[in-house]
Amino acid sequence: MSALSGMDVIVVGAGVSGLTTAVAMSLAGCRVTILAAEGPSQTTSALAAAIWHPFYQAPDLVYLARARHTYATMHRLSSDASSGVRMRPLTEYFRRDAGVPWWAECTGGLCRVPPERVPSRFACAYRMDVPVAATSTYLCYLMNMFLELGGRFVPRRVEGLASLLDEVEVVVNCCGFGSRQFGDDALSLSRAVVLRATRDDAVQGCFIDDSDPFAPTYIVERDDDIVLGGTAEPDLTSTVIGQRQIDDIVHRCTRLCEGVAALRVIDARVGFRPVRHSPRVVRDERYRRLLHNYGHGGGGFTLSWGCANDIVRLAGGVASDG
Ligand SMILES: Cc1cc2nc3c(=O)[nH]c(=O)nc-3n(C[C@H](O)[C@H](O)[C@H](O)COP(=O)(O)OP(=O)(O)OC[C@H]3O[C@@H](n4cnc5c(N)ncnc54)[C@H](O)[C@@H]3O)c2cc1C
Repeated sequence: MSALSGMDVIVVGAGVSGLTTAVAMSLAGCRVTILAAEGPSQTTSALAAAIWHPFYQAPDLVYLARARHTYATMHRLSSDASSGVRMRPLTEYFRRDAGVPWWAECTGGLCRVPPERVPSRFACAYRMDVPVAATSTYLCYLMNMFLELGGRFVPRRVEGLASLLDEVEVVVNCCGFGSRQFGDDALSLSRAVVLRATRDDAVQGCFIDDSDPFAPTYIVERDDDIVLGGTAEPDLTSTVIGQRQIDDIVHRCTRLCEGVAALRVIDARVGFRPVRHSPRVVRDERYRRLLHNYGHGGGGFTLSWGCANDIVRLAGGVASDG
């Protein structure tokens, strides 16, 4: 029997962080309730391209361990057709040849693209297989898995986290940018504009050039659509998307993969990445039975299972405190 068996837990938030954490805690034997102001389909997570990729990330061993854990778990899930997760080929282009990307050791099928197939404005390119989720299918799949494990979902906005500790042994804050209201000034947002296009054989696989930190370019093939991105606009809260911005994304994506010119764009969406210098995955300094798991920036999917695993470990620490 696990040290967490029978432990009563509240997870606040039903984005990818909350759902993954709730599933991991349930699998560890906890009785878990999710409280969330918005259900999965209304979250930032629902807007994501949901490709496993360390966007804008400097080399970091903790990040690497979490990303590796997530890669392995999503790889396993990809064998279940109903999960919405698929392993897809990713071609990533680099402006500077710094050798094999630091995180590439996590991936399968890694190879260097022959120079004659790399456009002259890039120094090199690597190809690898990565997990990609059809976001709405995957979030729904996680919610169903959670409910089948005996979990409860309660739609409810939470005003304070500490008071929830009167109800259960452990509370996990997975509120994404919503954590700002609980006093974390280190949390900011980065606006992301993405387009969705209908699937077409002209685009197969995924393509990324994230060398411009304000204008990452990515094409993500998924089960039900193709996502074209994007932007990274720090602290911009407007939800208005200009036609010039849409044209610029299509232009950049077409330069990365000519087939994009054949796609039919069906909508443009804006979302806000919850950005911190690093994700906050810790026990609270003041309330030791309160755990935090938020602030994943552009890597909420990439880090999800690794961070959830760390939360299970931290909850084990609470259990052994007695
Ligand atoms: C356009 C776009 C593309 C992206 N693409 C990728 C990608 O390809 N790969 C990748 O890894 N990442 C990507 N990201 C980043 C990723 O989407 C985020 O890191 C991730 O969604 C954050 O998930 P979360 O569960 O922490 O927060 P959220 O998804 O924001 O969920 C927060 C939850 O907390 C709840 N909540 C908040 N406040 C309260 C409260 N007071 N009471 C109760 N509930 C509350 C909300 O209702 C919600 O349920 C992308 C982001 C955007 C915007």
